Amino acid sequence: MRIRRILWALITLGLVTALLGAVTANAQDEGDGASDSGDLQLVILHHNDGESQLVQASSDLPDFGGVARFASLVHQLRSQAADNGAAVITISSGDNFLSGPELSVSLDDDSPFYDALALNSIGYDALTIGNHEFDLGPDLLARFISEATTAPFISANLDFSGEPALAALVEQGRIAPSTVVEKQGRRIGIIGATTPELTYISSPRNVAVMSNVAEIVQTEIDRLTGDGVDIIVLSTHLQALSSETDLAAQLTGVDAIVAGGSGALLADDSTALLPGDGDPYGPYPLTATLVDGSSVPIVTTPGDYTYVGQLILSIDADGNVTAIDEASGLRRVAGGDESDAVEPHPDVVAQVTEPVAAALEELAASPVGTTEVPLDGRRSPGIRTHETNQGNLLADALLWNAERLAADFGVPEPAVAIQNGGGIRNDSVIPVGPVSELETFNISPFGNFVTVIEDVSPAQMKVIFENAVSRVESSSGRFAQIAGMTLAYDPAGTPQEIGEDDTITTEGSRVQSITLDDGTAIVSDGAVVDGAPSIALVTLNFLANGGDQYLFGDGTRTNLGLTDQQSLAAYIKDGLNGTISAAQYPEGGEGRITVAVDEVADETVDDKDDGTDEGVNGMDEGTADEMDAEELPATGIESRLLFIIAAALVLAGLMLATLTRHHNPTHRRKRLSI
Ligand SMILES: [Zn+2]
Repeated sequence: MRIRRILWALITLGLVTALLGAVTANAQDEGDGASDSGDLQLVILHHNDGESQLVQASSDLPDFGGVARFASLVHQLRSQAADNGAAVITISSGDNFLSGPELSVSLDDDSPFYDALALNSIGYDALTIGNHEFDLGPDLLARFISEATTAPFISANLDFSGEPALAALVEQGRIAPSTVVEKQGRRIGIIGATTPELTYISSPRNVAVMSNVAEIVQTEIDRLTGDGVDIIVLSTHLQALSSETDLAAQLTGVDAIVAGGSGALLADDSTALLPGDGDPYGPYPLTATLVDGSSVPIVTTPGDYTYVGQLILSIDADGNVTAIDEASGLRRVAGGDESDAVEPHPDVVAQVTEPVAAALEELAASPVGTTEVPLDGRRSPGIRTHETNQGNLLADALLWNAERLAADFGVPEPAVAIQNGGGIRNDSVIPVGPVSELETFNISPFGNFVTVIEDVSPAQMKVIFENAVSRVESSSGRFAQIAGMTLAYDPAGTPQEIGEDDTITTEGSRVQSITLDDGTAIVSDGAVVDGAPSIALVTLNFLANGGDQYLFGDGTRTNLGLTDQQSLAAYIKDGLNGTISAAQYPEGGEGRITVAVDEVADETVDDKDDGTDEGVNGMDEGTADEMDAEELPATGIESRLLFIIAAALVLAGLMLATLTRHHNPTHRRKRLSI
């Protein structure tokens, strides 16, 4: 009897499932983009940190990424969403270009700004200003925005009035705190925000950075909602997802947050990833809690034109998010023979990737010299945690060029060179063999200028190197590679801390000794040496301007008119006559920087993705796909016929439901608890 009951239950389940599948299929056929209830299906296509990775994901992954494929995928997703009756907006959350070989092509005279051309072909509704936009100064950003005409650039917490070229773009509405787009009769406000660390990590010159982001953003939300804009999306570039979570906790009235700058991968088991990608930071989307306890989805992408983010929201007549579609997630950018390959967008190929790739080939074919020793430019452990031979090479290049040019610029020959680890970007060991000009761009992509600073006092030297080693345990980019001196430090000492207004809030006690190569002691046994001389030093303008919180004092700064990449190339070519020898640059360095106690940490952590899981809850849940129909027969039932009928019905129902779900990307499944 019991078995019979189970069978009937199965048959009933089968019938119901089949019926439901059919009903769902029918409803979806009619398209549920704008349903009778006044619901809006809003598809947010998003990206961030494109960072001039225009040609391909990397030289190892030529079949992935590339802005031409990326453009095709965005166009494809956009038209699919439109076919389903959904409204679509497209957002970039900052770092829309980055110094490097690709960008150097755009910097040639008469060259278009290739990144801007690419963005124009993709089509955006809003582009947030990140930190890397300022790496080459406000004037280049102004040129970029003038050429990237697809959408306004947004940031609510930057004040451009001190920079005439950018202020003019504000005047023209090309830069704004936010923008409002209208889709299907509904108004959607998109508000931008930029990392308050901008002053330290880039070169915004006279752009004022306001750090009370939550207050500023809430004011903008209130202004927009006061105007009747009831759908609010934040597009923020705050460098770590934990910052977006913290921000959300101070806000009300936000429907979605599109983040940039963390590089975090949000995915689950069903997301197709690039080879080598894995270990996601969390599910897509993450969920954060607003000040009133309601939930808000946070999304981001790893950047580099490798994935398009697709957040699909159901929004009711009052502008509240009622559901997040299960089809939301990252879509990888693939080509070649991959099953999800897209054809590169022909306009983008012709206008952007072909000319850029040709210029890169030219750079790769021009050697500046040969190395007889592997050069260690790895990030961590590496140039951000200890002396390496590649770090020494770069510091020597600064010193050699400054000595060569000092007389021309009327400055004293510097005694010391400082190169920050964060300015060394190849993150690799360069093998023995020829070193191309392209490689020098990979090593020193930022185009920072070589700068001499005069009259640096011994006490200032202690402050400078306390800063250099203050965050060595977190692999901060401020770690210094040096020339002209030796440094010994004790990582167990107190790390120096610098507050706002460049005041030292905690004095450091890590630096044990600083000795110039001529034997002059500047710091000894942790104390500044009485009567030690002031010196001139050479570094990069980024640091001279306070980047990485370096404090050099009031001495005169003189820009020597060559970039870090030019400095390196000239040193290898002319300073070393084209040969980097193992004798001069031994692996592991030569003892310029030593640790005063033995237990130094090589167990450092990368500070790029320093977002934490605090307060972030995944909205992951089991999907229908996980209900494997083949598991149903495992019940040991005698009446095979009844069983087969039941199983077939269940299967048919599941297949119908699954088919329609895959067919329609705006199928609703995930529900937010609001
Ligand atoms: Zn960034």
